[in-house]
Amino acid sequence: MDNALEVKGLTKKYGEFTAVKGIDFSVLRGEIFGFLGPNGAGKTTTINMLTGLARVSAGTFNLVGYGPQQIKKAQQYIGIVPDESNLYEEMDGFDNLCFCAALYGLPKVLRAEKAKRLLKQFGLEEAGNRPFKANSKGMKRKLTIAAGIIHDPKILFLDEPTTGIDVASARQIRKLILELNKSGTTIFLTTHYIEEAERLCHRIAFIVDGNFIRFPMLFLCGLFIPVSRLPVFLRPLAYALPLTYGADLLKASINNAGQLPLWLNYVVLICFTIFLFSFSIINVLKKWLL
Ligand code: ATP
Repeated sequence: MDNALEVKGLTKKYGEFTAVKGIDFSVLRGEIFGFLGPNGAGKTTTINMLTGLARVSAGTFNLVGYGPQQIKKAQQYIGIVPDESNLYEEMDGFDNLCFCAALYGLPKVLRAEKAKRLLKQFGLEEAGNRPFKANSKGMKRKLTIAAGIIHDPKILFLDEPTTGIDVASARQIRKLILELNKSGTTIFLTTHYIEEAERLCHRIAFIVDGNFIRFPMLFLCGLFIPVSRLPVFLRPLAYALPLTYGADLLKASINNAGQLPLWLNYVVLICFTIFLFSFSIINVLKKWLL
């Protein structure tokens, strides 16, 4: 599988403040890529840079063959579903979809046909006939997703599609995401919910305070090193060193800012202790018995 998106050293500065700090990652064609992080981590800023809504301060990317300088050309191949809907409140669902189709340059005959098909597929026939503002949050979300895929994008950026909506609507949206992906759309999904990412995504990345984190990290002499920054031959160290997990546990207990799930820290430390314990017992027994 080749890459739909490759990001290298992507950085965003707002004055003195750096919201995204030189992140590197790639998204495979045909996958659902989960981009997780707490509030203010830099998820939306990253999407905005990748879709041409914000200027890149440093670094680069290749999105379906186009870099930051040619982002206008890439826009016909990408779909964007922002965290806050960009549809017109007074226009009905059908007209909103036709309007988006026109913006993406779809021929007039195709616009109405695609809008009708999407409204049916998403179970939004009624929402298609009333002003956007008269819909529930879940319906608005689904309409916004429909608008984001009206031009059959190769890659769809979904910014927190299920935040703030009820369980049933969230379930419907997750189903739609899976169906879209099955039909061949690559999906870049940001979310706060780890369970959602686990359920939907083929791969997951984590951003905290603008830094890209890959599990696990190596903690050595007080240094905190994401594994992705290490040469390949050194990476097993991070997995082997229980120090990684001990330091993270300590960090989590002191300032509630551990990066790894607590259970993982405990499991690794318990396994390591059992290993050490059995190793010493075997050595003692060997001395006695031989
Ligand atoms: P959330 O999950 O709450 O949407 P997020 O991970 O999407 O958060 P961003 O919206 O990307 O986070 O914001 C990252 C950081 O950049 C935040 O500290 C935010 O205050 C800051 N930021 C975002 N936009 C601007 C701006 N236009 N000017 C200055 N700072 C900004």
